[in-house]
Amino acid sequence: EEPVVGNVNKFAVVPPSYTGRPKKGHLIFDACFESGNLGRVDYITEYEYDLFIRPDTCNPRFRVWFNFTVENVKADQRVVFNVVNFSKTKSLYRDGMSPMVKSSSRPKWVRVPNKHVYYYRCPDHRKNYVMSFAFCFDRDTDVYQFAYCYPYSYTRLQNYLDQLEKKHLDYLQRDLLCLSVQQRRLDILTITNPVNLDTEERQKVVFVTARVHPGETPSSLVCQGFIDFLISNHPVAKVLRDHIVFKVVPMLNPDGVYLGNYRCSLMGFDLNRHWQEPSPWAHPTLYATKNLLIEMDTNEKTEVDFYIDVHAHSTLMNGFMYGNIYEDMGRFERQAVFPKLLCANADDFSLGNTAFNRDSVKAGTGRRTLGGVLDENTHCYTLEVSFYSYLTNSGTSAVALPYTEEGYMKLGRNMARTFLDYYKLSGFISTKPNSGGGVNAKSHRTSAKDTKSNHSQQRSASDSMSRGDDRYDRMMRESRVIYDKTQTDNPAIRMRDKDNYRRN
Ligand SMILES: [Zn+2]
Repeated sequence: EEPVVGNVNKFAVVPPSYTGRPKKGHLIFDACFESGNLGRVDYITEYEYDLFIRPDTCNPRFRVWFNFTVENVKADQRVVFNVVNFSKTKSLYRDGMSPMVKSSSRPKWVRVPNKHVYYYRCPDHRKNYVMSFAFCFDRDTDVYQFAYCYPYSYTRLQNYLDQLEKKHLDYLQRDLLCLSVQQRRLDILTITNPVNLDTEERQKVVFVTARVHPGETPSSLVCQGFIDFLISNHPVAKVLRDHIVFKVVPMLNPDGVYLGNYRCSLMGFDLNRHWQEPSPWAHPTLYATKNLLIEMDTNEKTEVDFYIDVHAHSTLMNGFMYGNIYEDMGRFERQAVFPKLLCANADDFSLGNTAFNRDSVKAGTGRRTLGGVLDENTHCYTLEVSFYSYLTNSGTSAVALPYTEEGYMKLGRNMARTFLDYYKLSGFISTKPNSGGGVNAKSHRTSAKDTKSNHSQQRSASDSMSRGDDRYDRMMRESRVIYDKTQTDNPAIRMRDKDNYRRN
């Protein structure tokens, strides 16, 4: 078979013997737009079409993301679309996931009802896994769009960041970290009380990145929720800005996103396997991000407490984290604390799926590489969120709730507020968010020295600090439970990951 390269461009699919101009009902497919992906369409019958995902640019191994439009339909035209060339075999389609659809008169994305979706090994396609779905076009003037998951394009990010800039918030700064291979922006946001940026005191930094894998669109929604919370008037956000410097790189692979790739950059690199030695010409966005992290790590004035890289997961449910295994037991146990706190704040977060590993296929990931490079006090995680849904354990039986855009953003907001819990637990922040009012970073930090005028505040601060210590100790003891669990759970998860990766 011919390799599939390039996207279909207003491609009219007509019966093989048909000549002449397409008639109404001869479907016209298009994927020549930002983040679009559809490589080929084969006419099977009037009612059935085989669809081929266009592989990632310069890397035919990855074929998962699709995003295309269909027009020139007849009202009440019924069709079956077969997506026949997925590169993965395990899929959430087996657990009820379905493709997204919207149309020009109904611009909100919804999932195709999953009773119309089938996922099976197909003898007609070399026993490949095929996802088939039945669909009825109801309005002949509408343009219909189908996608693997909620699209989130480079332009959408740029528009969002432009809107943020127009707010002229003194605690939000947008900078250009570098340009991508195709000259797109690698943006970095700094969110903190401006007092923190010109002080001699040591700054604690939380560094978050997303979208190194371009098809993992939910990671952008999580990241946007995270940013929205941190710049909000929420009292927790204010306290966090007063004490912590947040650095956010919302789209590590802008070219891959623009091109409609699933996993790779323009040149076909899986960037999350190149953190060890990023090249300034082949992986400029990684190169710039890693250098900044190392610079902050070696700078006396900054302390990188967290590095979290946000991804989406194509086979597991819920939100969950991956962390590293360290020889140092203390470090290993300390890093179990944050996922546990996040779990307490987010219904959709699963400690069961959370795992710590050091298998070789994950070498070169941001989490793994930076875990070895940065200061031993830095916690490095991957935050994963399901492309499909989360299970809650409310009541007797678990129910799968499909994620909405809002659901993904909520996970980001919950991650943001978990930092307050963490820093209270560690004793670094002792302010109560509701009582503090005008307490800012400066007055809080100097309160310990200011014994005369601020005695009562100082006492309450130290009280809560020691309470915090107790809680911290308790969390540390409890976190051993996670460790024991990962010892037994991990091999299975590792094997599954490995299998998928090799099969690709
Ligand atoms: Zn990923």
